[in-house]
Amino acid sequence: MLSNRINYLSESETLAMARKSRELKAKGHNVINLSLGEPDFNTPDYIKEAAKLAIDNNYTFYPPVAGYQDLREAICLKLKRDNGVDYTCDQVVVSTGAKQSIANVVLSLVNPGDEVILPAPYWVSYKEIVKVAEGKAVFIPGTIEHEFKVTPEQIKGAITSKTKLIIYSSPCNPTGAVYTKEELKAIAEVLVKYPSIYIIGDEIYEHINFIGKHESMAQFDFIKKQMIIVNGVSKAFAMTGWRIGYIAAPLEIAKACDKLQGQFTSGASSIAQRAALKAIATTPDTPELKTMQKAFRERRDLLLKLLGDIPGMKLNHPDGAFYIFPDISYYFGKSDGKTVIQNSNDLCMYFLNKAYVATVPGEAFGDPKCIRFSYATSTDNLVEAVKRLKLALDGLR
Ligand code: PMP
Ligand code: GLU
Repeated sequence: MLSNRINYLSESETLAMARKSRELKAKGHNVINLSLGEPDFNTPDYIKEAAKLAIDNNYTFYPPVAGYQDLREAICLKLKRDNGVDYTCDQVVVSTGAKQSIANVVLSLVNPGDEVILPAPYWVSYKEIVKVAEGKAVFIPGTIEHEFKVTPEQIKGAITSKTKLIIYSSPCNPTGAVYTKEELKAIAEVLVKYPSIYIIGDEIYEHINFIGKHESMAQFDFIKKQMIIVNGVSKAFAMTGWRIGYIAAPLEIAKACDKLQGQFTSGASSIAQRAALKAIATTPDTPELKTMQKAFRERRDLLLKLLGDIPGMKLNHPDGAFYIFPDISYYFGKSDGKTVIQNSNDLCMYFLNKAYVATVPGEAFGDPKCIRFSYATSTDNLVEAVKRLKLALDGLR
């Protein structure tokens, strides 16, 4: 008999859709995958070389639990160089992906019954990680009319004596929304009035931002004591499989995460850490990164244009990450003669089975009216996918 903890935990819906599309592919279907948020580029060669060198130089022993000292120093330099924030090495913990970084922090802070505010739409795993910690997720809805961003007033209205943490991402997964410096400051000004509340700012899409400089809430000194930055190498450097993420946090939280992962994993892979060091220590202006950023922007523009021609798709206008999150509730109640589309889950399954296009239902991110398209794929795939989606939607009455 499995524990209640695992019985109540849901499978990651992003990974589930990726699994379903792999299964259909294995049966010989030509599936276009717009589900998984994973760059389709190879890891740049200069990073791969660092990993090869690490093997030859015998970086094959247990690393320090919190990460190699020089990697943590490079992260501090990066935080200063790119974000203008000061952290010391002992405030940085390197983990097996930003996903583990988030889990470490939540498990270090949240007691059963504590409330965790999640501006919705939120990234799918936040809710489940909070569940594992036996916390209570409190959702505040963003609307497509405001690019799904929540206001300081909404946050204030959700705070109770039990609130322990708030988790947001900017650039946001699944909406691509990017909070401006002014918006972050206004939110920080509310939260500073509640010094026992911590904030996780998930900045994993930092370098995939189409409106200019990335803004971290940690830049406001007055909120830094409450703030935990989460970042990693998966997205910007096309390194999803290497599994390296990190936090920069108040010292007591960094120490707690170090203790926790000392019992759970003993630290992140030594070889992947050496590769991440190369990625993080190099300025983000490399031609490889520029090429990826340019491609994501072009694909965003293309997909917005293509989806814009489909009646009933209410589009948002993402400024970062690699997702579009349109409202597709226009199609609810319609049928192809066999299945009635009741919600975004049904529409996703219809797209997958009818058009062989994989997407992720908005339910996974706390907005059942929407659907997530990842455009981390070629322009040819995007054109073909939208052609198929249009045909499938034409079949609904
Ligand atoms: N945060 C967000 C918002 C993400 O989209 C992802 C997706 N992978 C992660 C964290 C986790 O990233 P990692 O691959 O570093 O675990
Ligand atoms: N973060 C990506 C996504 O949202 C990858 C999948 C995952 O880590 O859950 O699709």
